[in-house]
Amino acid sequence: MPTQRDFLPSLVGCLSTGAAGNPTVEMIEAAFRHHNLHWRYINTEVPPEGLGDAVRGLRAMGYRGFNCSLPHKVTVIPHLDGLGESAEVMGAVNCVVRRGDQFIGENTDGKGFLRSLQSLVDPRGKRVVVLGAGGAARAIAVELGLAGVGRLTVVNRSAERGEALLQILRGRLKLDAQFVRWEGDYVVPADADVVINSTSIGLYDGDARVPLDINTLQPGMVVADVIFSPPQTRLLRDARARGCQTLDGLGMIVNQGVIGVHYWTGIEPDAQVMRVAVANALGVPV
Ligand code: NDP
Repeated sequence: MPTQRDFLPSLVGCLSTGAAGNPTVEMIEAAFRHHNLHWRYINTEVPPEGLGDAVRGLRAMGYRGFNCSLPHKVTVIPHLDGLGESAEVMGAVNCVVRRGDQFIGENTDGKGFLRSLQSLVDPRGKRVVVLGAGGAARAIAVELGLAGVGRLTVVNRSAERGEALLQILRGRLKLDAQFVRWEGDYVVPADADVVINSTSIGLYDGDARVPLDINTLQPGMVVADVIFSPPQTRLLRDARARGCQTLDGLGMIVNQGVIGVHYWTGIEPDAQVMRVAVANALGVPV
C-alpha cells in the first residue's frame, strides 16, 4: 500500500525590507533539512506600510511564527497578542512564536549572544563592559541584566542613546549600571570580566579599529564581538594576542537561529549544521 504523502509544510519566515540580503533563511532551512522537518522558512520583502496586512496574512495562512528584521522590530508590537519578558523590557521583537492561537513576540538577539557567552563564562555577578548603545547593545545588555550580571558599563559615542539604555538597565532592571561617554581610546577597567563590541565598527572591514586601548585588555578577560562578517575582527585578533578568550558574532547569529527553531518546532537543532550554512551563505570561514 503506498503511504499518503503530506504536501503541506509548516511555515515560518522573515518580514523585513532588504530581505534579499538576509542569509538567515539558509541557516534555518539547513536545520529543517538536517532534522527531516517538513517545514519551510520564507524570506519576505515587506515595506513599513504593509506590515499590519502582512502579519494578518501570516495568521490567516497558519504560520507557526516568523522573524522580524529591520525596520519592523518595534512597529510589529501592536500587531501581536503579547510579549516575552526581554522583548517587553527592550521594546523590540525579532522572533514571533505562535502559542495556541496567539502570536507572541520574543527577542532572540540578546538570548543568542548570552548562549554564546555562556559557552565560556557564567555572566552571573560578572563585571561587563558593553561598547555601543544601539539595537544590538540594548538586546545584549537587557539579557545580561535578566541573567544576573554584577555590574554593567555602557560606553557610547552619543550620550542620548547611552542614557536611554541606562534608564532601562537602572530603572526597569535595577542593575548596577553606568554610562561612559566614548571619547578617544576607551580604557578598560582592570576589574572587567567581559568586554563586548556591540557597535557596527568592523562590519565588512577586518582592519577597522574599535577605539579602545588594547593594552588595558588583561589575559583571561572574555572579549566578544557582534560583528559576523568578517568573524575574525581586528578587536578579536588583538584580544587573542593579549591572552583574552574571544567570541565572534557568528555564534550570536547561529544561537539566535537555534533558539528560534526551538521556539517554533520544539526540537533542539544542531548548531554546527547551522553555523556551516550561515558561514557559507555569508562567504566567511566557518
Ligand atoms: P545601531 O545602528 O542600532 O547601533 C550602532 C551602534 O554603533 C551605536 O551605538 C553607534 O553609536 C555605534 N557606532 C557606530 N559607528 C561608531 C563609531 N565609528 N564610533 C563609535 N561608535 C560607533 O546598530 P545595531 O545595534 O542594530 O547593530 C550593530 C552591529 O551589530 C551591526 O554591525 C550589526 O550587523 C551587528 N549585529 C549582529 C548580530 C549578530 O547576531 N551577530 C545581531 C544584530 C546586529 P552612536 O549611538 O553614537 O551612533
